[in-house]
Amino acid sequence: MKLENQSVVVCGGGGFIGGHLVKYLLGQGVHVIRSIDIKPRADWYQESHDVENLVLDLSEMSACLRAVTGADVVFNLAADMGGMGFIENNKALCMLTVLINTHVLMAAREKGIQRVFYASSACVYNGDKQKSPQVTALKEEDAYPAMPEDGYGWEKLFSERMCRHFEEDFGLQCRVARYHNVYGPLGTYDGGREKAPAAICRKVIQAKSSGKHEIEIWGDGHQTRSFMYIDDCLKGTRMILESEIHEPLNLGSNELVTINQLVDLAEEIAGIKLKRNYKLDAPKGVNGRNSDNAKIKKLLGWEPSIRLRDGLAKTYAWIESQMMATVPK
Ligand code: NAD
Repeated sequence: MKLENQSVVVCGGGGFIGGHLVKYLLGQGVHVIRSIDIKPRADWYQESHDVENLVLDLSEMSACLRAVTGADVVFNLAADMGGMGFIENNKALCMLTVLINTHVLMAAREKGIQRVFYASSACVYNGDKQKSPQVTALKEEDAYPAMPEDGYGWEKLFSERMCRHFEEDFGLQCRVARYHNVYGPLGTYDGGREKAPAAICRKVIQAKSSGKHEIEIWGDGHQTRSFMYIDDCLKGTRMILESEIHEPLNLGSNELVTINQLVDLAEEIAGIKLKRNYKLDAPKGVNGRNSDNAKIKKLLGWEPSIRLRDGLAKTYAWIESQMMATVPK
């Protein structure tokens, strides 16, 4: 399938990835007809004016029917989620996102939608494979036997599975990406739902501007992760949607760093050095996780192109501009 000549709807368009996706697709000449989010429009990270922007609660079936009407393709990025601090403390809320995913699929089936994209997560992977910071990158088959992240990961794995069975039993075409830590400007950097790159940028900026040259790090700083810049994510998302790959695919960076190295980079960008205080009882997730991109590279030719240092500098600059704009003069 080519997205040209298709009418596209983005669910979760007021959020970080959804907001970027609407802009990106419009920029590529794709006919995005509608963007939907539960948040009041004033709180959307980005809003595109050539699109119908709707505030709807997609956990309700009637809202989903309204949302997908007239579309050929639906990108489903709506979810009640956040970084580790949020998902470890809000497992029930994360699992309630199953209502969104269920109703989006049911509405898509009822309205004869041609193809649905579902944003899954690396949190579906079996925890036993992520116990050591010296990780072996996760391959798609490592999701089974199932032992995903409690709450959020179980819901993601269940919804992936539902996509599979809607396709097998009802013929609804579904494409699934397993995103690994996406970061970039125009996303959450405070309030409790932020993820590590944005949180670390914010803490470094606060330390620099306050002159209190200290930083609190969750865990011992040795946990490893990879982080994918938003531009790579958008390109891969479109490629997966347009592909004929029916199984979930990893979409992530394979540039593995420790959290300490992520802090090193943020300090380098800021031009300061901070005293590190490790909060060992804070939510920190698995000890190590990386994305094995062999399958997506082989099948679609996608690989990440933006180095963490470069993407983080852009993210840092945007968060700094936001924080400076809110500092009382
Ligand atoms: P986000 O929180 O910025 O965006 C999700 C949006 O969904 C939010 O704007 C939220 O208001 C909206 N939403 C929540 N409940 C809703 C409802 N009932 N009806 C309508 N809208 C609702 O998150 P994001 O980082 O843009 O993530 C997008 C998708 O990608 C999510 O499914 C997320 O689980 C997945 N994902 C993201 C990452 C990442 O690193 N950002 C990693 C893995 C998977």
